[in-house]
Amino acid sequence: MNRIDDLSAAGLVSAVQSYGEPAFRGRQLYSWIFKAGVSSFGEMTNISKSFREILSEDYGFTVLEEVKRTVSGDGSVKFLFRLEDGEAVESVLLVDGSRMSGCISTQVGCRMGCRFCATAGAVGFRRNLTSGEILRQIIHLRKAADALFGERLGNLVFMGMGEPLDNMANLKKALSVALDEEGLGFSHRRITVSTCGLTDGIKELFEMPSPVNLAVSVNAPSQKARAAIMPVSLKYPLASLMDTLKNLELDRRKRITLEYVLLGGVNDSLEDAAGFLKLIKGVRAKVNLIIYNGSKYSDFKSPSEDSVLKFQEYLVKNNVSAFIRKRLGSDIEGACGQLAAGYKGRRGDS
Ligand code: SF4
Repeated sequence: MNRIDDLSAAGLVSAVQSYGEPAFRGRQLYSWIFKAGVSSFGEMTNISKSFREILSEDYGFTVLEEVKRTVSGDGSVKFLFRLEDGEAVESVLLVDGSRMSGCISTQVGCRMGCRFCATAGAVGFRRNLTSGEILRQIIHLRKAADALFGERLGNLVFMGMGEPLDNMANLKKALSVALDEEGLGFSHRRITVSTCGLTDGIKELFEMPSPVNLAVSVNAPSQKARAAIMPVSLKYPLASLMDTLKNLELDRRKRITLEYVLLGGVNDSLEDAAGFLKLIKGVRAKVNLIIYNGSKYSDFKSPSEDSVLKFQEYLVKNNVSAFIRKRLGSDIEGACGQLAAGYKGRRGDS
């Protein structure tokens, strides 16, 4: 059955027109689904019962059933959802004081194969999420932020399970609803899409009318070192990724976030820091240093505190804004994929 929340604003208008209804009925539906966040036709009280019945014969709603909720010591909340086909996906409500951010997944699993990643190690790639499944996560977190903390979900980061730019069509569809005042109403300044560096996708994302913030997971000072931990670098070499980033037309108030996961003894030496500095020269960026904290799905080790501080100090001394990222929700396995991986393990799937 077709899912009504997979339709765009224009799609809803043409859907209702196909039943002989006026265009504004489509906009009413759009508002009910995304602004009010309803998940049944019965709740749409300003739409006639007879038309609701007709719609419910042809359309259903995306299934996103919460099956587990884990609360971290810092207040962040991780949700595990079951989808209609039995697959599992996760989202995190990141809580930093009154600042609420939603960490959203875009795929079940991921096909990028980063060697240090729990998703790649435990889940592999299962399928893309539909735009409805992406948007339903946001609606769920928006309701949770309100119900649990009395706060507004203000920010979205597409850093959950999956590579967002590997599911471009559904990502763009979801972003256009998220950015629409009549939809979810987020500012482009409050949305960040994180990628492992699909250069074609980055260019396409920046062709959208209001490009969102970009975070790129770099993690190495050279092509050779990167290809050893991120196979995606073989298809999208580091040099062309950096060229793409240097040439993006950025809003003057925006910077690209370059993520660097520090892996003990692999990419965390001062020599690595010097190579990374050289690499990113000319990119308008800030750097987030992420301390790898181990996973049963990989053999990498956490970096020492000393090497993390020296790495940061080196970058800062050379005029790069470099932050050691606060790991919200880290005690609930905040790294992508781990909770869903556990769920799949319990179900006995491979
Ligand atoms: S780190 Fe991100 S891009 Fe890499 S395999 Fe994991 S989910 Fe995919």
